[in-house]
Amino acid sequence: MSESFAVDVQGVEKRFGGIKALDGVTLQVRKGEIYGLLGPNGAGKTTLIRAIVGLVAPDAGTVTVLGRKLPNLDVLRDVGYMTQQAALYPGLSVEENLRFFAAIYGVEDGVQAALELVDLDKRKDSVVATISGGMRQRCSLAVALVHRPHLLLLDEPTVGVDPQLRVQFWDYFRRMADSGTTIIVSSHVMDEAERCQRLGLIQYGRLLAEGSPADIRAQAGTQNLEAAFLALAGEKEA
Ligand code: ATP
Repeated sequence: MSESFAVDVQGVEKRFGGIKALDGVTLQVRKGEIYGLLGPNGAGKTTLIRAIVGLVAPDAGTVTVLGRKLPNLDVLRDVGYMTQQAALYPGLSVEENLRFFAAIYGVEDGVQAALELVDLDKRKDSVVATISGGMRQRCSLAVALVHRPHLLLLDEPTVGVDPQLRVQFWDYFRRMADSGTTIIVSSHVMDEAERCQRLGLIQYGRLLAEGSPADIRAQAGTQNLEAAFLALAGEKEA
């Protein structure tokens, strides 16, 4: 069954000392889908994303990515990961950063397209330490997709990004998904959640609701997603 999904997570558990970060998560993401992970701070979103990238080894359960069961180093070639902390070399220019990461994957020909996708071609010679925070976010996104991954994991990619650029980012994501890239994105921003095809609401390391934004509103019987999320999270706590 895994072949038809880009990501198939089955019963994944992960404990850090006394903290149960993931408590039996099962979810499947279809190819070309934009799947949003929502949940309060500490809910387990980053841990789940890291388990899908293969950076966190689950204590129990399985993760299958693009038809290959993890751990599997080959799958990394097909996966892009944008972390919460920009993983850029501040002393290098925008283009040098991209060339560095492209060289790791042996895909130097992807640099120009990545620069253009995030509208940084005019600033490609600027040193990363001197560009604005929003440009750094764009550069991080370009690094995550320079090797044209089939699966893109974005951990709160629009934190600190102005509203205009957020709209642009979501245009990029839409374009990539339309061309077949599967995207998993975590966010605390409800208007971004509305742009996902499906959402998973995570709390205490568990998936407490899943569905399209309309499904989630209907499940909670609320008009908007924020109220739906608060209602569903509160129900489980009660
Ligand atoms: P946020 O919205 O704040 O980014 P999150 O939903 O991404 O939160 P996680 O970062 O996955 O949450 O953290 C889930 C829980 O696991 C938290 O209690 C966190 O402190 C803990 N945790 C995550 N990684 C580690 C680690 N490497 N060592 C110890 N505890 C960890």
